[in-house]
Amino acid sequence: MICIRGAIQAENTKQSIWQETETMLREAIQANDLALEEIVAIQFTATADLDAAYPAVAARKMGITEAALSCVAEMKVVGSLPRCLRMNLWVENGKAQKEAKHVYLGGAAVLRPDLAGGKSFAVAIDGPAGSGKSTVAKQVASDLALIYIDTGAMYRAFSLYCMRLGLSTEQEEAVLPALSDFSMEFRNENGQRRVYLAGEDITQTIRTQQVGQGASNVARYLPVREKLVELQRHMAQGKRVIMDGRDIGTHVLPNAQLKIYLDAALEERAKRRLGELRENGQQATLPEVTAQIAARDDNDKNRQYHPLRQADDAIVIDSTDMTVEEVAAAIEQLAKERM
Ligand code: C5P
Repeated sequence: MICIRGAIQAENTKQSIWQETETMLREAIQANDLALEEIVAIQFTATADLDAAYPAVAARKMGITEAALSCVAEMKVVGSLPRCLRMNLWVENGKAQKEAKHVYLGGAAVLRPDLAGGKSFAVAIDGPAGSGKSTVAKQVASDLALIYIDTGAMYRAFSLYCMRLGLSTEQEEAVLPALSDFSMEFRNENGQRRVYLAGEDITQTIRTQQVGQGASNVARYLPVREKLVELQRHMAQGKRVIMDGRDIGTHVLPNAQLKIYLDAALEERAKRRLGELRENGQQATLPEVTAQIAARDDNDKNRQYHPLRQADDAIVIDSTDMTVEEVAAAIEQLAKERM
């Protein structure tokens, strides 16, 4: 039996405690190549400032149902790291303790800098609208236990926020004052990534053409980009992530271990987007969607700040005639070679 140590910081909300616990567990599972059945027991500890939820609940939700789980209070020591979750994860996998890979993530990396180095990993996926980035990224995230960060959803969330305030997304001076109060977050719920705006689940609401066009508008303004890019980098820091968008390989994560530029023919992308819209119960025709996508690409490729372009070291995949599974398998193969 071996014991894997882990630590991560969280905010004192149910969602954050569960989300960060899940991240810590997924990192440990991935780094040590574990099967869930090999987990014998997990003891979580939390500092006294984290009392909104039991971390063990997140483990149960992930399907760790056989292992013995417990949650205890971390000793209160003057000057210790605040808002910190820790775990001892006991595993029966026939390995020796010296082979255990411990996971000290994000702000908790300071606890064991000797162990934290080299654990982060990033896959950056850029490409035009409808190229399949988010579908493929979700698949790869699930197969390789990476955290999926959909940066388009962040621009869409700000677009929706402005639209609800009655602000024209076409006018920079109208939307910038709204930026300081804007805050969104991703939450993991039952294995799904959800998007929240001020406590409201907006995952579906942001998937309209109108919100997408608004996102492309607000994405032109430098202060908007700066705020969201800072958040994106923070989300990726010290973690194993797959992030998709337009400027990930070129600007947000220039040191990503793997950069993919995912493309597809305009007509194919329009067909996919139309399918998505119809699945969400929205009316649209192929010519309309084709024109909207072409306009959005034009906006994204020709804007002044961080336009969509292929990073010099990106690998191009044209998904026109490929299935989601084929694209995901190709990316996973490349990612594994670089891990
Ligand atoms: O990918 P998605 O269609 O959700 O993105 C919505 C819009 O957000 C894009 O058209 C683009 O203008 C903007 N965006 C961006 N940079 C990113 C991600 C999205 O400018 N990294």
